[in-house]
Amino acid sequence: MSWKLGRVAGIDLFLHPTFLLVLLPGVFGGGLSLLFILALFGCVVLHELGHALMARRFGIETLDITLYPIGGVARLERMPRAPGAELLIALAGPAVNFAIVAGLMGLGLLGLGASDSTAFLGDFLDSLMVVNLVLGVFNLIPAFPMDGGRVLRALLSGWLGRARATTIAATIGRGLAMAFGIYALFHLNLLHMALAAFIYLAAGAEERGVLAEERQRTHGDGPSERDMWSAPPGYRWVHRGQGVWQLAPIVVTTSGSRPSPSSWAS
Ligand SMILES: [Zn+2]
Repeated sequence: MSWKLGRVAGIDLFLHPTFLLVLLPGVFGGGLSLLFILALFGCVVLHELGHALMARRFGIETLDITLYPIGGVARLERMPRAPGAELLIALAGPAVNFAIVAGLMGLGLLGLGASDSTAFLGDFLDSLMVVNLVLGVFNLIPAFPMDGGRVLRALLSGWLGRARATTIAATIGRGLAMAFGIYALFHLNLLHMALAAFIYLAAGAEERGVLAEERQRTHGDGPSERDMWSAPPGYRWVHRGQGVWQLAPIVVTTSGSRPSPSSWAS
């Protein structure tokens, strides 16, 4: 169950109740201002919209966007299988964070928050800039379930195939989650331990999903290799051979199929 916040660009926006676990201590504990948390989650929504609007360019609609304490999740109606689409959709989220950083730097250069009377605003914008930088960089870690895991998979699948590329990105994700979990255990940080467990499980779930899909495909009742590579409506892949050339989509007029929904985490 989630609470509906509204609708952006034709996509329903939900807030998961567990989000209050972060919001309430932050506000009443005095650690973070309510305004800052709202601004931060505005940035997370923009990050998810980056994925959603790029996916829309490839003919993939987003069912909804839900905000969890650990970040946002945009549920795409289907996953892009072609590496070029996956690469661009994955990069679009962090790109939004870096654009926000650039925008806030621009405001700083214009002198906003520089005088004594606006020092509070300056601190606020500086903190928001740092958080966006961290969000952008964290999401580019080349491991599932981060966006960088999808970037890595897209880049590798041209050479190794989708299953092998997924296993590599998921294995890196599980390895990093284990290291982070052990670190959090030594520091008795429950929130970080939960985050590590989430990353570990999400990396495994992604791998299982893709491997099941591949098994189905090789038994002939899943999407065929041709479907795997089918470009979105209006696009065709330049090259289906090896390497990065196949990442480039060109515009033509074709039609596409619409399989079952899947999640696009963080
Ligand atoms: Zn993302």
